[in-house]
Amino acid sequence: LIAPKWHMAKGQFKDYVIQQMTCREWRQGDLFGRGKKEEPESGSGLKTVETDDGSVTFWNEDYKEHYHSPAGARLEAEEKYIVPGKLKERLEKGDLHLLDVCFGLGYNSLCALDATKQDASSTLSITALEMDRRVVGAAAKNIQTSDSDSFDWKQTLAELYKGQASSIPSQASISILWGDARHTITKLPTQYFDLVFLDAFSTQRNSELWTVDFFKKLKAVMKPDAVLLTYCAAIPVRSGLMEAGFFVGETDPVGRQRGGTLAAMRAEDIDLPLPDHELRMIRETTRGLPYRDPYGVRTNKEILRDRQERIIECKQ
Ligand code: SAM
Repeated sequence: LIAPKWHMAKGQFKDYVIQQMTCREWRQGDLFGRGKKEEPESGSGLKTVETDDGSVTFWNEDYKEHYHSPAGARLEAEEKYIVPGKLKERLEKGDLHLLDVCFGLGYNSLCALDATKQDASSTLSITALEMDRRVVGAAAKNIQTSDSDSFDWKQTLAELYKGQASSIPSQASISILWGDARHTITKLPTQYFDLVFLDAFSTQRNSELWTVDFFKKLKAVMKPDAVLLTYCAAIPVRSGLMEAGFFVGETDPVGRQRGGTLAAMRAEDIDLPLPDHELRMIRETTRGLPYRDPYGVRTNKEILRDRQERIIECKQ
C-alpha cells in the first residue's frame, strides 16, 4: 500500500481509502455509506444493497458482511469466476461439470448458465453447495432479470428454492445440495468436476471453508485438469491451497480491487504466478500458516484460535 499523504484533503483521503479497500474489507461493513441499504427481508436478517453495477446484493447480519463487493455482484461473478475460469472456452471444448461452493444469491451459477448458448452441443451441469436456504428465497424476490439474460433468473431462483429448476437453458442442469459444505462435499463423486468456484465469506468470519482440510476435500472431487477459482487473495488461503497440493496463481484484478486466486492441479494451468515476495512470505513467515480443521467440525472461532496459537508457538 502507498501511505496516504498528510496534505490530502478530506475528500481525497476518503477516495484514497476507498481505492485501497479490498473486497473483503467492504464485505465487512458499509464504511462510507456506499450502497443503499433497505429494510431486511422480514425475519431473514438480510438487507438488500445496490452495488455499483446496479445488481443487488445482501448484507448478512449474522456474519456482519456483504455477499459481494461494492463494484457489483454480477461484475464480481463475471470477473472473479466466469472469465478467469475460461468457462466459455471450456464449454466450446465439451461438457462441463461445475461445482459452485457457497451458492448464496446464485450470481456465479446464474452467470455460468447465462454463458451457455442455446445452440451449443456441449452441456453444463452445476452442483451448488449452500447451507442457508432463506438466502435463495430472499434472492428470488430481490434479484433482477435483465433484458439481455437468456432465461428468467428470478424464476430459476424461485424454482431452486422449492426444489429443482427447469426454466434454464436446455443444455444445462443445476441442483443445490443443502447443508454444511464440509459434509455435503463428501457425498460427491471423486475426480468429477472441471471447475470449482469457492465464494465463502471472509477468512475471519467463515474460516471453516478456508482450511487445508477442506481444500483437500475439494481437490478430491476435481478432475486432473480442473481449476478452482476464488475472490480471496489472503496469504493463509493461498498457502493452505499449496499445502493441499494445488499449484496457485493470481487472477486479474477487477476495477480497483485486488486479483483473486486460481488453484490448479497442473502447473501449466497457472497464467499469473504469485509474486516472489508473496512466496517468501508464505514460506518464511507466520503469515503463511494456514487454517486447519482436521475433523471438519471446528467452529470459526476455534479455527482462528488454533492458528493464532500456532503463530505464538512459532514466535517463542
Ligand atoms: N456466491 C454467492 C453469490 O453469488 O451470491 C455469494 C456467497 S456468500 C459470500 C457466502 C455463502 O456461503 C453464504 O450464502 C453462506 O450461507 C454460505 N456458507 C457459509 N458457510 C457455509 C458452509 N459451511 N457450508 C455451506 N455454505 C456455507
